[in-house]
Amino acid sequence: DLIGKTALVTGSTSGIGLGIAQVLAARGAHILVNGFGDSQAPRQLIEQAGAAHGIRTAYHGADLSQVTEIEALAAYAEKEFGRIDILVNNAGIQHTAPVEAFPVEKWDAIIAINLSSVFHTTRLLLPAMKQAGWGRIINIASVHGLVGSAEKCAYVAAKHGVVGFTKVVALETATTGVTVNAICPGWVLTPLVQKQIDALAEKHGISEDAARDMLLGEKEPSRTFTTPQELGELAAFLCSPAGNNVRGVAWNMDGGWAAQ
Ligand code: NAD
Repeated sequence: DLIGKTALVTGSTSGIGLGIAQVLAARGAHILVNGFGDSQAPRQLIEQAGAAHGIRTAYHGADLSQVTEIEALAAYAEKEFGRIDILVNNAGIQHTAPVEAFPVEKWDAIIAINLSSVFHTTRLLLPAMKQAGWGRIINIASVHGLVGSAEKCAYVAAKHGVVGFTKVVALETATTGVTVNAICPGWVLTPLVQKQIDALAEKHGISEDAARDMLLGEKEPSRTFTTPQELGELAAFLCSPAGNNVRGVAWNMDGGWAAQ
């Protein structure tokens, strides 16, 4: 269990990050919440999940596209919790367009948030983990860290980058108590994916249900969404003693997507 440990989950005000934060809290970890939008409701959900262990949450709204704000987040983490034991790099955004029409500012934002922020949080928080002799870095990449899809050049480039970065830091920490791994989800029904379902429904003039089936049918053999809770359980496994020697993997939970 994770009693007394502290976890920073970036982008934990919504979707996958919120689900992972709830599962880690249920195992006893204190949670530093980050992300945009309302933070009160997510913090309450996380605190409820960890109520049996009396866990506490804190919140820092750093915009992860800004290096100085990530530095402020790391300083806040140290002030609030002394040290972060578990870093879950989860925050991410999506934009779809063919490469020649891809807005330059969207490319820059996706690379900054989905890839460069992972470098910055890691370089800032890894030293204390190494000093403590235990730590976990879990990078939420994507099945798009392993395979491509049309109209997602920035996202796929960033997520392949996250998988590569994960391998390098796993090697650099291989003889320490810090493990570094990536998780590669297929479709998860979060606001990020709902936007893509809405766009499909509009493009084809079909219902939301039909668009959801179309989205799953195109790529995901299981035709079911992975849930944030399931991803949280995988993260919790990586944090458990049984995960001590899992290093540098890109572990998909994608309904068979990458097996095709
Ligand atoms: P989401 O939109 O529900 O949540 C994203 C979170 O990141 C939110 O808390 C948001 O506030 C935060 N965020 C966005 N930009 C930020 C910034 N600049 N600074 C700080 N926080 C920021 O999305 P989600 O589907 O839960 O995605 C979470 C992660 O999982 C992303 O990295 C995404 O690429 C990845 N992922 C999602 C799916 C899926 O199907 N939903 C599949 C594979 C991978």
